[in-house]
Amino acid sequence: MTILPVIPISPDQPDSAVQADSVQFGGVKPRRRPSMPPRHLADLDLAARKTAVTGLGEPAFRAKQLSTHYFGRLVRDAASMTDLPSAVRDKLTTELLPTLLTPIREQACDDGATRKTLWRLHDGALVESVLMGYPDRVTACVSSQAGCGMACPFCATGQQGLTRNLSVAEIVDQVVYLAGVAASGAVTGSPPRLSRVVFMGMGEPLANYPRVIEAVRRLTTPAPEGLGLSQRHITVSTVGLVPAMRRLIAEQLSVTLALSLHAPDDDLRDELVPVNQRWKVAEVLDAAFDYAAQTGRRVSIEYALIRDVNDQPWRADLLGRLLHGKLAHVNLIPLNPTPGSKWDASPKPVEREFVRRLRESGVSTTVRDTRGREIDGACGQLAAGELTQAGAGGVAADAEVAQ
Ligand code: SF4
Repeated sequence: MTILPVIPISPDQPDSAVQADSVQFGGVKPRRRPSMPPRHLADLDLAARKTAVTGLGEPAFRAKQLSTHYFGRLVRDAASMTDLPSAVRDKLTTELLPTLLTPIREQACDDGATRKTLWRLHDGALVESVLMGYPDRVTACVSSQAGCGMACPFCATGQQGLTRNLSVAEIVDQVVYLAGVAASGAVTGSPPRLSRVVFMGMGEPLANYPRVIEAVRRLTTPAPEGLGLSQRHITVSTVGLVPAMRRLIAEQLSVTLALSLHAPDDDLRDELVPVNQRWKVAEVLDAAFDYAAQTGRRVSIEYALIRDVNDQPWRADLLGRLLHGKLAHVNLIPLNPTPGSKWDASPKPVEREFVRRLRESGVSTTVRDTRGREIDGACGQLAAGELTQAGAGGVAADAEVAQ
């Protein structure tokens, strides 16, 4: 494996800096200049929506009406908002509900229990979302950035480079759209209410920190201001941006933190997760354990099991020692290979031995249910395929895992 360069990261970096990173790390050049989308209702809290509505010459109560349609009823088209006079509804939806996401591919598999959507954003950037149904819940996996600047070499999204951060509303709108899909009964064998959101799609959520936190607040504030999900049902993942993890501790949210570790030793993690060259395993785990101590919530340690790379028994033992006695759970992810990739999933006996050793160390461990393998399952693969088909210069996707 090639050692990749250290990535300059500030959770608050401006979008221009983000774009520079995408060039620096060899990302696919977007077809249009990346730009943030127009203002949308979901970018604003209720007070700001009232200000926006009165600025458009309408009474403030229209903000609540519009919010009830969008967050409470999952309605986004003007024609369905029959309690608003038609001239008013056209003006308000044009100004406050612009189209942010245009679905360009939607695919279902697992007998309809998994649905993946590839979106085109207003500037041509591509992002993906996945809806996963289970007997007791429906979960949305959403993207926080178009592409990703973290350059994990086994990841399809990482090979595309970073195009730009998503806006608050671009993140929230993925969830509202998917909540509407769930409510329509389209997710086979699952309840109709979307109840969980995981920030494990494209991008490093904590590299888009202010917008991701604002999106979490919007998703968890009761309707009509927000979607009213439980904070405990939201999972925010990170590859280990320690200053942002520490900032998250101070937010006093009760979301679950998922740390994409993928290796217990710095030698290998420096290669698999290049940001490790900046913040080492010990420092990253310290921040994760502090988050668990602050919130009382178990940290999820994500570990993509890759054949002959990070699946050796001694690495299971080392990981077990690092996590022994900590408020942590290991989520092993069988790598989702793509044809021609040098990265492959570990054989099942190796996976079982890895699990056995971790459990023997007293560490709670599960193997992630692999969803969507028939549909370029993990994040970045649909977008990578689309970029390649479009001749946009995309690097062929390696096997990838949602972080
Ligand atoms: S694994 Fe996650 S952080 Fe790493 S490149 Fe892929 S999307 Fe980015």
